[in-house]
Amino acid sequence: MSITRPRGVNDLLPETTAKWREVEALLHLMAEEYGFGEIRTPIFEQTMLFARGVGETTDIVQKEMYTFNDRSDRSLTLRPENTAAVCRAYLENKLYGQAANHKLYYLGPMFRYERPQAGRFRQFHQFGLEILGTKSPLADAEIIAFACDFFRRIGVDDLKVHLNSVGCPNCRSAYRSLLQDFLQPNLDALCGDCQNRYERNPLRILDCKKEACALHYQGAPKISDHLCAECAEHFEQVQQLLAAAGLKYVLDTGLVRGLDYYTKTAFEIRSEAIGAQSALCGGGRYDGLMAEIGDKDIPGIGYAMGIERVFQVLAAVNQDIEIDNHPDAYIISIDQPEAQKSAFALANDLRKAGLKTELNFEAKSIKAQLKAANNAKAAWAIIIAENELAYGKATLKNMANSEQLELPFGEIRAFLFGA
Ligand code: AMP
Repeated sequence: MSITRPRGVNDLLPETTAKWREVEALLHLMAEEYGFGEIRTPIFEQTMLFARGVGETTDIVQKEMYTFNDRSDRSLTLRPENTAAVCRAYLENKLYGQAANHKLYYLGPMFRYERPQAGRFRQFHQFGLEILGTKSPLADAEIIAFACDFFRRIGVDDLKVHLNSVGCPNCRSAYRSLLQDFLQPNLDALCGDCQNRYERNPLRILDCKKEACALHYQGAPKISDHLCAECAEHFEQVQQLLAAAGLKYVLDTGLVRGLDYYTKTAFEIRSEAIGAQSALCGGGRYDGLMAEIGDKDIPGIGYAMGIERVFQVLAAVNQDIEIDNHPDAYIISIDQPEAQKSAFALANDLRKAGLKTELNFEAKSIKAQLKAANNAKAAWAIIIAENELAYGKATLKNMANSEQLELPFGEIRAFLFGA
């Protein structure tokens, strides 16, 4: 039996990777424009990092991690997200000692054992930003502005920015009890997951997509009505900054992250166009995270965007990434050692000069090779047959208008540059 790829993962083939590289190049460029530096952390980390940094009570940690013991019996986990790892690296490399704050970005694969479905994979790719070391609402607004700017630049504008504030441990403890009191009469009607969340992480119940649960949290008290003065002020400033930059958003009290180290701003950008898995990216502030995974109390904010989702939304709105990887020259030769030597030497000459050059490997008729050049959308076909060999020349065919000319081998490179 032939071996197939594991469930929930993808092979990215050349036509796709060419488009991915365009999107990745834009992200690298934008990150540089906005003043972010790239960070590359390992694909696997100590399991403890994610248990603490993502949260023991989250679905990711409870059900979705690829965790294994290495040969020395250390528990390691393929990273399910990258914020915890970036913070770990920031603390471990003492970046906080080098500047008041740091703006970092990453791009790479993440791994979650989720039920595969449209837009949900077990290996997927995220681009993300983190701003570490500042509590300023400007940082929150800058992250959201970047996320919106990216979609604008790739031509996707049918989007909604959902915005909320989840407060801080101070405002949340009173709110938690209010929410529990509100949910208590219908506790038995909530799904099993939400019943577990009730004690440990009741805010997450507001995020449950199951209809039965949604029915019972409608009308629940809103965290945004119970923010302490500092959190309310921060939330107000973020909104004013977004408005000043002309960025539209909707307030969404259902957007919650229940853990203590998530603080203040939470946001998600969604597109109706892609249906059920409508989140293109999400992020927020995590002022308590670094104290949880390290020994420094340093604030941070970030967001992560799925690259697969980017392509899903592009397809949904009928946008495509244009790729120009067509050969400048496609060299065709007869099946004869002298002709092949000349073809190979010419290909090397053109490639050294930076021209995209294809060489036909198969002994097919000239006609069949011309068809291949046409299929490859080559600009020029260069034909080396008996006649050409005899006179030390090649025939160049302009594939756009079929005009032909003959040139000595030594003049082809200069001609193609001028063409
Ligand atoms: P999260 O880290 O769960 O906040 O997810 C951030 C973004 O990553 C989401 O908005 C999606 O774009 C993407 N994402 C998360 N999980 C998956 C997955 N299993 N497959 C594909 N994309 C994902």
